[in-house]
This record gives sequence, structure tokens and C-alpha cells, in this order.
Amino acid sequence: HRIRLRQLVGQPSVTRDGVAVSLMANLELPSDIALAQANGACGVGLYRTEFLYMNRRDLPDEEEHLASYAEMIVGLGGIPITIRTLDLGVDKRVDSVPASSPAGSNPALGLRAIRLCLKEPDLFRPQLRAILRASALGPVRLMLPLVSNIQEVETVIALIRELKAQLENEGLKFDPMLPVGAMIEVPAAALIARTIARRLDFLSIGTNDLIQYTLAIDRLDDSVNDLFDPTHPAILRLIHMTIVAAREMNRPVSMCGEMAGDPRFTRLLLGLGLREFSMHPGAILDVKEHVLQADTHDLNRRCTHILSRIDEADLGDLIDQLNTP
Ligand code: PEP
Ligand code: MG
Repeated sequence: HRIRLRQLVGQPSVTRDGVAVSLMANLELPSDIALAQANGACGVGLYRTEFLYMNRRDLPDEEEHLASYAEMIVGLGGIPITIRTLDLGVDKRVDSVPASSPAGSNPALGLRAIRLCLKEPDLFRPQLRAILRASALGPVRLMLPLVSNIQEVETVIALIRELKAQLENEGLKFDPMLPVGAMIEVPAAALIARTIARRLDFLSIGTNDLIQYTLAIDRLDDSVNDLFDPTHPAILRLIHMTIVAAREMNRPVSMCGEMAGDPRFTRLLLGLGLREFSMHPGAILDVKEHVLQADTHDLNRRCTHILSRIDEADLGDLIDQLNTP
């Protein structure tokens, strides 16, 4: 099976009915580039930048950020990279940022990700400036984690505008059109996806957190692991809403949570309208195998039927049938 999958690397990722589907990689370290390339990733849909802060007492400065992004951009050889701004807090804490150690009784609902960055501009600014400067070196997109309201989006847009003016004054290069997008990983964000999409250039669905927050399942708690259900009707509804909102606002939408890399859900997601998937690079060929055999016309029809019956008790069989020829 592995050998057969390897033969798919060079093949275009297109469904049987001719719909192009982009299969991108989630990366956490520059050393992951080789795996992304070996599996034919057409881009990086999520570059997690937390590693820059790990196992050290001081903070990375702008130059260090820039050097690490430049290494990625050069290594990727021209395919686009989506750099996610710092997502510290909860499972990702560091010594150098005391505020990343949760104080409240519900750290997942506390000061993490974009919330932390907006509270600590000294933490955020060097990273934003470095991402802007990196955008002069190759195709870069900037992505914000855990957005839950439009004020956060407006604040970041204003900050980026200010930093662009600063860089220009300093004679430093950047892409003035750098696309800025948001992760949709909080139910509130999915419910206002249209408003968010209107202000930004793209959306990306983070199912790991979206499931955690929608179903009230701590993603780090093994005792409720069995309740972590990507096909829960509420999750399907929020995913579908987000895809429709992005489409209506004419914005690209991808998915970068684990669900996107699970071949059991490839047809379901195609049927819900998803056309951009980002996943662990080792999963790309498994997902591609399903993409190549899929007929989006048929899947759209069947998923429309599933959505129309979403309030009925058990969708399990209908969802399973998507995978049986
Ligand atoms: C997600 O929440 O789905 C996601 C991709 O982000 P992370 O797993 O880094 O929280
Ligand atoms: Mg997340």
C-alpha cells in the first residue's frame, strides 16, 4: 500500500470530476520541510511558531524570527507558507512569557494565543515585523490563532498598518499585500465567520480547538477522549457554515486541524465544500488517494442530504456510506 501511495506523489491532486484540491502540510520545525516535499505538499497551511520560544529563558527577537522564517521560505523553494502567530498558553507554556502560565481555573478559556499577544505587544510586535519582512522573500500568509471577536481582528489590522509604515520609514522591504487570515477554532468565530472573512483575506478551520470548545471536551484530558467527535452534528454544522461564509465573501478557506488529515473524513469534507486541506505531511498521500477517487458532484449531493437530516438521531450510517463505493 505504501509503495502504491508513493506513486501518487507527482500526480496532480484532482478529483474524478476535475476539481483541484490543494493538499498542504502543517509544519512545526524547519526540519519538517523534507517530509512535506517528499509527500508533494503544495504549500504550508499551518506553520506553528511556538518552537521558537521553547526550552529557553529569553525571548526570540525580530532578527531571530526573521532568520527562521527565511530558512523556511528558502527551503520550501517557492511554495506558499502560512505563518501562524504565537499560540502560547494551555498546552504550550514557556518560561520566558510568565503570562503564558495560566492563572485561571480553565486555562483553555484564559489568556492564550491572540489574546496573550494583544495583551503583550512587546511579545507580538517583533513577530509581526518579522513576518512582514519575511513576506519580501517569498509567498507568505499571516494567520491569527483563536480569534473570537471582530475587535481582535480590527486591532491586529491596525497594528499591521502601523508596522508597515514603520518598516517603510526604516527602508525595510515587505509585501504590502501580505494576506492576513484567521483560524476559525472557537464556535463564536464560526458563527460570525462572514464578519471575520469580510475584514480578512482567508480563513482556516482549526478543528482541534473547534471540537474542544464546541463539545466542551478538554483535548488534553484522556478521560473524555472518546467524546471528541469530529462528526458530531454541531461540528459539521459549524464547518459547513464557515465554508459557506467564506465562499459568500469570496475568500479562500482551508482546514488545518487533525480532521483534515484523517482519510476517513476526506469525502465528507469534500462534500461539505472544502477544497484546501492542511495536515501532518505524513498523511498527504492517504488523503490524496481519496481525493483522486472522489466525485465532488456526488459527494455534494450526499452531504446536502446529510445536512438536511442533521437533526435526526444518527447520521453515522450516512457518513460511513460516503466511504463505501
Ligand atoms: C487546531 O486547533 O485545530 C489547530 C490546528 O491548532 P493547534 O492544534 O495548534 O491548537
Ligand atoms: Mg488551535
